[in-house]
Amino acid sequence: MSIPSMEKVARPKVRQTQLLIDGKWVPSKSGKTFEDIDPSTGDVIAHVAEGDAADIDEAVKAARRAFESGPWPRMSARERGKLLLALADRIEANAQELAALEVLDNGKPIREVLAADIPLVVGTFRYYAGWADKIAGETLPVENPDQFFCYTRREPVGVCGQIIPWNFPMLMVAWKWAPALACGNTVVLKPAEQTPLTALRLGELAMEAGSPPGVINIVNGFGETAGDALVKHPGVDKIAFTGEYRTAQIIMANAAPTLKRLTFELGGKSPNIVFADADMEQAVQGAVDGIFFNQGEVCCAGSRLFLEQKIHDEFVDRLVARAKARRLGDPFDPQTEQGAQVSKEQFDKILKYIEIGKTQDKARCVAGGERFGDRGYFIRPTVFTNVRNDMRIAQEEIFGPVVAVLPFRDERELVREANTTIYGLAAAIWTKDIGRAHALAASIRAGTVWVNCYNTFDPAAPFGGYKYSGMGRECGREALEHYTEVKTVWVRMA
Ligand code: ADP
Repeated sequence: MSIPSMEKVARPKVRQTQLLIDGKWVPSKSGKTFEDIDPSTGDVIAHVAEGDAADIDEAVKAARRAFESGPWPRMSARERGKLLLALADRIEANAQELAALEVLDNGKPIREVLAADIPLVVGTFRYYAGWADKIAGETLPVENPDQFFCYTRREPVGVCGQIIPWNFPMLMVAWKWAPALACGNTVVLKPAEQTPLTALRLGELAMEAGSPPGVINIVNGFGETAGDALVKHPGVDKIAFTGEYRTAQIIMANAAPTLKRLTFELGGKSPNIVFADADMEQAVQGAVDGIFFNQGEVCCAGSRLFLEQKIHDEFVDRLVARAKARRLGDPFDPQTEQGAQVSKEQFDKILKYIEIGKTQDKARCVAGGERFGDRGYFIRPTVFTNVRNDMRIAQEEIFGPVVAVLPFRDERELVREANTTIYGLAAAIWTKDIGRAHALAASIRAGTVWVNCYNTFDPAAPFGGYKYSGMGRECGREALEHYTEVKTVWVRMA
């Protein structure tokens, strides 16, 4: 999708929002609201209906009813596919408006929302629309086929609680709803409290597209209240969560008494590895995109940049030049390349890590290292050199535009260091040596390995993590496995 004009996009106006429960827009039972803040100005955008345990209970009951009675269980898989296609069409038709709302809530630049988020959202709904009528069981060649006929059915898991973060609010909705609905589940979504708006608009579009009441429910609210109630609710069969691993640990413990199915997509500290034989221009751009895309608020950000010693100095010079040239500013301006961090809390956390890098780790800050402007939560693209892998800035997820550069000489040592992290979400390798690329792709313990590229995504390509980076996969056929139960049916034939 191209950027339609070089004019600034108008800021949308929102005042008050409601929850979507059982196909109706309702205020929260408590009547409470919370403030939604525009991170590029610090101003209040809207007062958001704040759901908690009572609203979650209503939403789960509605989702359960929709799963067990009503039109949803009787709808054919093909009809569910059509519904997802109709939703994708509506998203495309309203792309400008949705993009502006996402920018307002999250602070990310409009050009990226139009070029990356929207096409991926639309693509995800279309991809899973295609799967809806192809999710099938098997007939099994058991012993004594004259006596027994044995087959499997793939059935929906049931009511899925979906808890999402604020870095790609719309895309996270798509990654959660599309496979869940394709398989015939019903959902209760808890968006992040920092970015509650676009999920609501997607809910409206889903209703217009023909989603029956109760199939999609949206309860905004806080993690410790609404999220917690969803995790503990006995009427929920599965929790799909994207966020920090520490939150996942809490969710896992809280989901234990009701033995919920769990899938997690969590953080990362991904190694981005450049060998001296790489196409330098591509690799420098890959390093920039790897860490600065989406203000560095990306779980698979290339936050540890491993450079072969021979090219270290030249590469750093080029990286620093690009970091300094990056256009920061109003995210509604189509020229802007980097917008605001999502919240004051996140802004403070990133600045704290920059301070740790400078004083505690004693790394060298060669670009950025400070806020940009005096309004909103902008941080300059930041590059640290003289980093060792055991430093805090090389081990802890910063989730901001901060890259730690580590030189390497020996390939075996490199693999050991790249894997010395609690995380295992993604990695990239830049080299022209195809054998080395494949060997390293096999040795690095991560859910995605990019070779001579970074941040390429597709709804068909599974995404998820090893180790503390997650459990299960989103996207691709793999996601369908996590949204279905397998039922084995035995039939006596004689
Ligand atoms: P971040 O700290 O970056 O906001 P989190 O992992 O805390 O990341 O948040 C991701 C999502 O998890 C948000 O929707 C948040 O409200 C939710 N959340 C936070 N704490 C809990 C919890 N204890 N139980 C359920 N959901 C939670």
